Amino acid sequence: MQMTNRAQRLAAQQAQLIPASYQSTPSDTGQSYSIKPGVNLPSAIQAQVTILASTYFQQTGVKIVITSGSRTPQSQAAAMYSNLSAGKTLRIYKNQRAAKQIEHAYQQGKAARKSKQQTISDMASVIWTQMRSGIYISRHLHQGAVDVRTRGLSAQDQKTFISVANSLGYSVIYEGDHFHIQF
Ligand SMILES: [Zn+2]
Repeated sequence: MQMTNRAQRLAAQQAQLIPASYQSTPSDTGQSYSIKPGVNLPSAIQAQVTILASTYFQQTGVKIVITSGSRTPQSQAAAMYSNLSAGKTLRIYKNQRAAKQIEHAYQQGKAARKSKQQTISDMASVIWTQMRSGIYISRHLHQGAVDVRTRGLSAQDQKTFISVANSLGYSVIYEGDHFHIQF
């Protein structure tokens, strides 16, 4: 009972410190991490995420925000569709040949005036085909990867995060505005 009150007080104190614009976005899991809406965190890795986040929270008092989890070909295609229709390139993808194939499906859909939904389906089927031959356009198509927001973490917090993750046996790749963690 006492623990609950303490946790509630702590949460209330944290809420006061965080700007309102941040509070509404990530859904609070009531744990030592929060998840951005729409992010799929498969149950297979929830235990690992919980251990990582709570170990980190014990050391820093900072809650991590999961900005990306596992993606299906459909949700990967939807993310790429959004980027392309916002005028962004697919340059961030390591496998440019695979990225171009997916972009081609996007361009064809546009040229044929297909619906957004139909175009995303076409792109997803290219992603499926690639996966069947062992090509994964995103590491998030493998179950067992998450992205953690680095915005708002001090340099020291970031260092601590990497060492906590490494000590648990997880690799961390710094990708600009987030850490990519492979379980
Ligand atoms: Zn990632």
